[in-house]
Amino acid sequence: MGLLGCHVSIAGGVQNAPIRGHELGCEAIQIFTRNPNQWKSNALTDEQIQGFKAGIKTYNIQGAMTHSIYLINLASGDKSLRKRSERAFLNEMDRSEALGIPFLVFHPGSFRESTEKKGIRRLVSSLQRLLNQRLEQSLVLLIENTAGAGSLLGSNFEQIAEIRERIGLPNRVKVCFDTSHAFAAGYDLSSLEGFEEVMDQFDATIGLEQLQAFHLNDSLTELGSRRDRHENIGHGQIGTATFERLVNDRRFQRHPMTLETPGGDEWFQKNLQLLFQLRR
Ligand SMILES: [Zn+2]
Ligand SMILES: [Zn+2]
Repeated sequence: MGLLGCHVSIAGGVQNAPIRGHELGCEAIQIFTRNPNQWKSNALTDEQIQGFKAGIKTYNIQGAMTHSIYLINLASGDKSLRKRSERAFLNEMDRSEALGIPFLVFHPGSFRESTEKKGIRRLVSSLQRLLNQRLEQSLVLLIENTAGAGSLLGSNFEQIAEIRERIGLPNRVKVCFDTSHAFAAGYDLSSLEGFEEVMDQFDATIGLEQLQAFHLNDSLTELGSRRDRHENIGHGQIGTATFERLVNDRRFQRHPMTLETPGGDEWFQKNLQLLFQLRR
């Protein structure tokens, strides 16, 4: 079964995240390593890095991932935005590696006024360039599936498979599955048969062995709405039974499964309690 947890705040510094996660009941945590709404960031200090690593051990946090900042768009046709995005992404890779975090989750970006084909080409070439500059790292990048609003890439499995294939570094680029994004993109997870079908489709296109982590979110918006609105577990359109199936799924042993539900820490705790109750 998966390692349960949630997105944890780094207020006061990354070194505070492990104890905060522990207090919320996390076995796994997801963090930003920097302010997700700013291009600028201060370098991590040795003290912060050592404090984070010590906290992970002390509080027995068994899984961790970084979520990259929202401003990054490696598929953008705007040259200066793409340059900035590459710089920030490399910085995120280095921060995650320094903290000993094995996974960096990112959104594949949007092609805006350009075309899907060009967007994918730009994303692939950026990721190749960045990964080739960091061949020594053990960090694995996780493409997150998206709801697919507007010109957002990554809302269907075929496209994610194509992006991975074209990058050509299969051990360095895998996938994080967001349940609410999949549902909003038209993958019906709201019944157990539906869930199995979606997993079969994932297996046939990308391969289940490439699925390394989950974001557990119920969906406020309808199937196929392409609108990204997370909801608390059991309060949305996906429903509790699917999450019960997922947290007990033997195919996803020790995979980090982190909540990104609304309502802050109070609701993270409620959702986590529910998920632990669902565990058999
Ligand atoms: Zn995300
Ligand atoms: Zn997510």
